[in-house]
Amino acid sequence: MARAGAAYYAARDPFHDFATSPELSQAFGECLGLWAAVTWQAMGRPDPVLLVECGPGRGSLMADALRAIDEMMPDFRAALRVHLVETSPRLREAQALRLGDAAITWHEDITTLPTAPMIMLANEFLDALPIRQFIRRGAIWYERFVADGMFIEMPSDAVLQEEAPEGAIKEVNEAALDFAAWLGRWVTLHGGAALLIDYGPGQTGFGDSLQAMRAGQPIDPLTTPGQVDITAHVDFAALAAAAGAAGAVTHGPLPQGVFLQRLGFMTRAAMLARLAPASAQAQLAAAHRLTAPEAMGRLFKALAVCDPRLLILAGFEAA
Ligand code: SAH
Repeated sequence: MARAGAAYYAARDPFHDFATSPELSQAFGECLGLWAAVTWQAMGRPDPVLLVECGPGRGSLMADALRAIDEMMPDFRAALRVHLVETSPRLREAQALRLGDAAITWHEDITTLPTAPMIMLANEFLDALPIRQFIRRGAIWYERFVADGMFIEMPSDAVLQEEAPEGAIKEVNEAALDFAAWLGRWVTLHGGAALLIDYGPGQTGFGDSLQAMRAGQPIDPLTTPGQVDITAHVDFAALAAAAGAAGAVTHGPLPQGVFLQRLGFMTRAAMLARLAPASAQAQLAAAHRLTAPEAMGRLFKALAVCDPRLLILAGFEAA
């Protein structure tokens, strides 16, 4: 999954295969930008502060966020340093084009970020990291591998705590768990908060959530590896536990629809619709898609990982 994902993001424009929130509505990145601005104030306005995005895709979220920040909180704009964590050279180019004259530092992974207070945004980043799948057979777990283009199962010595029924599938995303633990340590030591938005259930459970998409349609993940987008559900409860064990406070996961409405997303979308009547219909349809429970409003969730000294976090007050 890691190799297929790297090949896919390096060579293709993933946005032919799926639509993400920042590509659907500019109000998404604007609201997240203002969330970062309010968080910066709650942190005591550190200067400099890192504004980090992991997996920034085409750079749309960051472009929308920076524009909103520029307009609403120029002090924050002056204090922030943009750092993007992106492995794909092709998408780095797209980000550079999109972000124009903003000074940006790119990183292969989070370990090279400079030491400073940080506000991090990540939308549909963790779902792209590789999972392992274990299957319960009798009293032991087997692990699913790929060999000669097929799934095979081998007995595993993995120690998984849960009792599980016969045939249950347990997914473990070690890269995402390491990431959450790292974040938890970072914000506790250096200050800050991270907003992780992705899709997955609220509770840890069993099931096969590996999915591949091509041109908006589900496809067998093994037919053309490296040419299709492969993702899996994010286990928010496990991420929160990993970040919490590292010292951080976590908020959520909150359904994306609820979180966005609390940030004023619908008001902003309605304003955009009024400002540009020609695209009003599309604006409102996108806003509905991002927030409606039957669309992206419930399956997508927001989880915040923050410094325990940060008492209030916009959007999570009444969570
Ligand atoms: N956040 C964007 C893009 C989501 S697609 C949006 O919402 O539109 C996933 C993004 O994560 C892409 O930019 C991809 O290149 C990047 N990515 C995938 N695996 C990565 C990894 N291991 N490290 C850093 N970036 C990664």
